Amino acid sequence: MARIAVGGLHHETNSFAPHPADWAAFEQSDGWPARQRGVEMFGNVAGINLAITGFIDAATARGHTLVPLVWANAGPSGPVTSDAFKRLADEMLAELAAAGPLDGIFLDLHGAMITEALGDGEGELLARIRALHPATPLVAALDLHANVSDAMVRHADGLAAYRTYPHVDIADTGARCLPLLERLMGGQKLAKAHRKLDFLIGLPWQCTTTEPSGGLYRLADRLSARLDGFVSIAMGFPPGDTACGGPSLLAYAARAEDAEAAVAELAAAFAAAEPDFAGRLWTAEAAVAEALEGGRRDRPVVLADTQDNPGGGGTSDTTGLLAALIEAKAEDAVLALLADPQAALAAHAAGAGAWLRGLPLGGRFGPSGVTPITGDWYVQRLGNGRFTATGPMYRGSRMDLGPMALLRAGGPDGVGVLVSTRRVQAADAAIFRHLGVEPAAQRILALKSSVHFRAEFEPIAAEVLVVAAPGVNTADPGLLPFRQLPPWVRRRPRQS
Ligand SMILES: [Zn+2]
Repeated sequence: MARIAVGGLHHETNSFAPHPADWAAFEQSDGWPARQRGVEMFGNVAGINLAITGFIDAATARGHTLVPLVWANAGPSGPVTSDAFKRLADEMLAELAAAGPLDGIFLDLHGAMITEALGDGEGELLARIRALHPATPLVAALDLHANVSDAMVRHADGLAAYRTYPHVDIADTGARCLPLLERLMGGQKLAKAHRKLDFLIGLPWQCTTTEPSGGLYRLADRLSARLDGFVSIAMGFPPGDTACGGPSLLAYAARAEDAEAAVAELAAAFAAAEPDFAGRLWTAEAAVAEALEGGRRDRPVVLADTQDNPGGGGTSDTTGLLAALIEAKAEDAVLALLADPQAALAAHAAGAGAWLRGLPLGGRFGPSGVTPITGDWYVQRLGNGRFTATGPMYRGSRMDLGPMALLRAGGPDGVGVLVSTRRVQAADAAIFRHLGVEPAAQRILALKSSVHFRAEFEPIAAEVLVVAAPGVNTADPGLLPFRQLPPWVRRRPRQS
C-alpha cells in the first residue's frame, strides 16, 4: 500500500470584487471549514462534500497511509494577498519537505486562484511542489470553474474537475482521483491533452442540469469510458481576469493520440453548442412582477440574484432585488442571504420582537448605484449562525456564519431578510430553517446564488427566474473590463 500526502488550497478569485482574500479569510470558516493542519484535519473534514474528504475516504478504504498537509479555503472574493499566498504555499512546501518518502501526492485545488502578484496561483504552487518532488506522482482535483493553465497541466500528472454545477459531486471527484493516482503510482504513463476554448461562458449558462452543458458532460463521460482514461471539462470562472481564463478540455489516456482525439471531439461539440449558452436575464422589477402575477402558486418562485452571488465574489449585500420586493409589497417573500455584520449585531442587541428604526441595511460596497436601504426593520428571530448544512452541495458542512437575524421590512408581515455576519451562498435550506423559515412555504425565495441553489431549491420551485440586479458577479462576461484575458478569447458566446 502507498504513502500519500493529502492537502489543498481553494480560492475562486473575482478580479472585479472589492474584498481581497487575506490570511484572516483563510483562518475563518464560512460555508466550508477553516484552515486545517495535522491529523485533526481528518475529523474536521469528515462527512463533508469536499474533494479531500472523498479522496481520504477512498484511499483509507484501499488501505493507503495518508500524510496530512495544510488544507485551506477562503470564500470567493477579490485576489488573494501575496502575504496569504506565500504563507499558505510555504506551509504546504514545508510540510511536504518534512513528510518523508512519498509514493503519491493528492491535492484538493480550485484552479481559479489569482493573487496580487500572480495570474495563476495553482500553476505557481504546483511548480514549487514539482521542484521539490520531481518524480512523485501528483494528482489534483479541480473545481468545475477552474481557469486551467498550461503550467497546471505540466506540473501535475493528473487533473480531474467536478462534473456537476451545482457541485453535488465534489467528494466524488476526490474519490475519482484515487484510481488515476494509483495507475500513476503503479508505473503507468498517461499522456495528457489540454485545449483552451476560445469563448467565455457566463455562470448561469454553465449549469449542468440544463442544456447544452448537461449533454457536453455526458459526452465527456462517454469519452472517458471509451479511452479507459480520464476526461474533464472545466467551464472556467469568467470574472477571474487572467491569461489562462476560459474553459478547458483535459484528457489523460495511455496513448497520446487518444487523449488528443478526445479533446478534439469535445471541442467540436462545444463549438456546435456555442449559441445555446444563453438564457433570459430579468430586471429585478420585472422578475418580482412576474413572480406576483396571477396570485399565489402552490410552490415558491425562486429569484436568483446572480450578480450578488457571494460564491462568485459578490459582496452578498446589494439591495436591488430587495428594494424591488419591498416596493412591490411582496407577501411571503424572503431574501437570503444578506451579509451585514452591523445589522446582525444591532438585531442581537435589540432582541427578538424589537424594532430597528432608521437602520441602513446592506449596500455598503457598491457597485455604483447600490445603496443601503434605510428603514424600520422588525427583528423576528435571532440565530448564532452555527448549524450543519443538509442540502446536496454543502452537505455535512458545519456552517459558522456569525450572529444572524430574520428582519422584516416595516412590520412582522413585511418582506423577510435573512441577515448574516459572514457571506455564504444561499444554496441550502438549513440557512432558512436556522431562523425558523420553511422555504417551501414561501411565495418568493430571493437567493443570492447563480446556480448552486438549483440542487436544493429547484425541486420545490414553481419557476426559477435569473435576475441581473447590480452586483460584481457579472452574469454577462461581455460587460467586464478585462485586462489580462487574451484578445482571442470571445467575451461571450456567439449567438448565431
Ligand atoms: Zn465552482
